[in-house]
Amino acid sequence: MADFSADRPAEAKDSAPPPSPNRSSSGEDTEKRPGFLAELFAPVAGFGVSFMTQFRAPVTVQYPEEKVPTAPRFHGRHQLNRHPDGLEKCVGCELCAWACPADAIYVEGADNDDRPVEEGGTGRFSPGERYGRVYQINYLRCILCGLCIEACPTRALTMTNFYELADANRADLIYEKHQLLAPLDEGMLAPPHPMVAGMEERDYYQGKVTAATPEQASATRADVPAEGEGA
Ligand code: SF4
Ligand code: SF4
Repeated sequence: MADFSADRPAEAKDSAPPPSPNRSSSGEDTEKRPGFLAELFAPVAGFGVSFMTQFRAPVTVQYPEEKVPTAPRFHGRHQLNRHPDGLEKCVGCELCAWACPADAIYVEGADNDDRPVEEGGTGRFSPGERYGRVYQINYLRCILCGLCIEACPTRALTMTNFYELADANRADLIYEKHQLLAPLDEGMLAPPHPMVAGMEERDYYQGKVTAATPEQASATRADVPAEGEGA
């Protein structure tokens, strides 16, 4: 038979096998051997975990009958917030949509329109120039990471602790603006309505507006059926 050892590199022929990690430099076996009791109970040692668990309090939760509160900063369903007079904080800038790594947000902005109804005015929904006319979050895509709320310049978008985001069909998991808007608290009026008289956009962000005024109440548009459902 041919001797192929001559074809092998010299260092391969001369190299010794690497030393065992359990042996000292003198060749002595340093691996720690289990004691007599450890060897005796080794076959049933795994049952110890099961046995001890019998004496611990159960962690099973009878959901949905029993609901455990989340951590206060848990990232759940989003909310579009309002100013104290009910105007929306969202200015339709789309920064949240651009920040979203899952492409789960769709926003269309529009101009606020203070013209009278007779002249075709569509009303004011936020202080300043623009508002979010269409706002959708697709909870089939959302991973609840919170990057969108970090990107929002007006704190219009925040996240609640609500986590029951499941449904029997895909369409109902695309939430529209009217589903995401915060409810009207005391002192708020549903937009569209004008800003508080004498206030500018910056006054809203400086906390100078605390509630809707009677002038706003008298100017509230009753001809707009439901905010956030514009065509
Ligand atoms: S929480 Fe994350 S994934 Fe969900 S909409 Fe916001 S940025 Fe997108
Ligand atoms: S929620 Fe915030 S970031 Fe998104 S469009 Fe509205 S103002 Fe801009």
